[in-house]
Amino acid sequence: MYDLAGKKVFVAGHRGMVGSAVVRRLAAEGCEVITATRAEADLKNQAAVEAFMARARPDVVVIAAAKVGGILANDTFPADFLYDNLMIEANLIAAAHNVGVGKLLFLGSSCIYPKFADQPIVEDSLLTGPLEPTNEWYAIAKIAGIKLAQAYRRQHGHDYISAMPTNLYGPGDNFDLNSSHVMPALIRKAHEAKLRGDREVVVWGTGTPRREFLHCDDCADALVFLLKNYSGYEHVNVGSGEDVTILELTRLVCEVVGFEGEIVHDLTKPDGTPRKLMSADKLRALGWAPRIGLKQGLTETYEWFKAHAA
Ligand code: GDP
Repeated sequence: MYDLAGKKVFVAGHRGMVGSAVVRRLAAEGCEVITATRAEADLKNQAAVEAFMARARPDVVVIAAAKVGGILANDTFPADFLYDNLMIEANLIAAAHNVGVGKLLFLGSSCIYPKFADQPIVEDSLLTGPLEPTNEWYAIAKIAGIKLAQAYRRQHGHDYISAMPTNLYGPGDNFDLNSSHVMPALIRKAHEAKLRGDREVVVWGTGTPRREFLHCDDCADALVFLLKNYSGYEHVNVGSGEDVTILELTRLVCEVVGFEGEIVHDLTKPDGTPRKLMSADKLRALGWAPRIGLKQGLTETYEWFKAHAA
């Protein structure tokens, strides 16, 4: 087991939903957490990242920094999603190596897998088929990140690992309707429909796609678990092992929010990939399981939204 106590851990992307959850979770490990604001280190800028890393000299790096967004944002800004993510991961991984960081965790996403991968998706299905076009830009960047971590492991013997979280949600999520993922979008839509006294809430697409969700605090717990207990070449899925249809999710959101109107579909918006359920077998076999159920997590997230983002 790798002991984090007394180590300097640099969490890149500490203001994001996952990065901030990782920082909260690391508080229990007795390590020193280092973060960098954009002014201190613009992660897209190689010289800035090199300089920051040379000053900070971390023992461990967690790459939770990324340009992220929902199905519409990915489809609208392909250049940003590909370029920004390639730069961020390449700068961080190379700079970590240059200052002798031996332990690094790279975070990807379930969208790295082929659009029609067998479900639940096992880690081995990476690069076995074409990607979902709405988010292939982000996916290609994240696949490059996995390969970069593997390449540095192979060429330099570093313990650089990768984790692929499923769709995450929770406090600190992005609730902007144009760029968010489905869960925060539905929370905002149902909440505002309730306040306005609307009779309808609009869901994009057919409602039939299936998605898996994991609370960001469960994800952070899994990531710290992997840092301590996993040092393999292959990436590891981080999921809940259960999925729901977008319509089922919408019904649950409406129930939690207390919106009693109708659910209508905007069929001009894309469905994206039909199903995205990752196999949780590898992580379970290592000894980790999630603790926060969907309804409980959604209820907490709705409370956070009302207090911070409504
Ligand atoms: P994906 O998992 O990469 O496809 O990203 P999203 O979380 O953005 O979308 C998941 C599914 O939810 C897709 O089928 C969307 O069409 C559907 N969806 C339904 N309503 C919404 C909405 O208001 N916002 C978003 N982002 N997705 C929605």
